[in-house]
Amino acid sequence: MTIERTFSILKPDATRRNLTGAINAVLEKSGLRIIAQKRLHLSRAQAETFYAVHKERAFFNDLCDFMTSGPVVLQVLEGENAITAYRDVMGATNPENAEAGTIRKEFAESIEANSVHGSDSQENAATEMAYFFSGIELVG
Ligand code: ADP
Ligand code: MG
Repeated sequence: MTIERTFSILKPDATRRNLTGAINAVLEKSGLRIIAQKRLHLSRAQAETFYAVHKERAFFNDLCDFMTSGPVVLQVLEGENAITAYRDVMGATNPENAEAGTIRKEFAESIEANSVHGSDSQENAATEMAYFFSGIELVG
């Protein structure tokens, strides 16, 4: 049993539609625990830094526009194999390809406005949570 931590964002389409509680109910039901949480309106610089890995992609500019279009909820999740577990409960990037019962299938509006972010590796999880949270804000 490996207890891990992963980084989560409830994206602007989720806050706009008042879905933060409904989404967190799904991830909590899957066994993940929210051990840190803050609501922010990302600056352009914060969005570009966070998604720097995608800066060569055609959708980068639109993605940064979307991620700064309203508030987000930033979270650290803890649980058994949390990185994979959260990716599984999020579902595929494109909600049309996501399985029934996943967050993106239930809630996402489009491949871009897909309601949630989740780290894809231990290394990225550590980098992403350190960008937004200090150690004393992680209350497991
Ligand atoms: P994931 O969030 O599933 O890890 P990626 O890391 O590939 O997906 O992409 C980051 C985010 O960029 C996605 O969650 C989505 O908001 C957006 N995105 C990805 N692919 C596209 C696309 N083809 N068109 C528009 N937006 C996209
Ligand atoms: Mg990704």
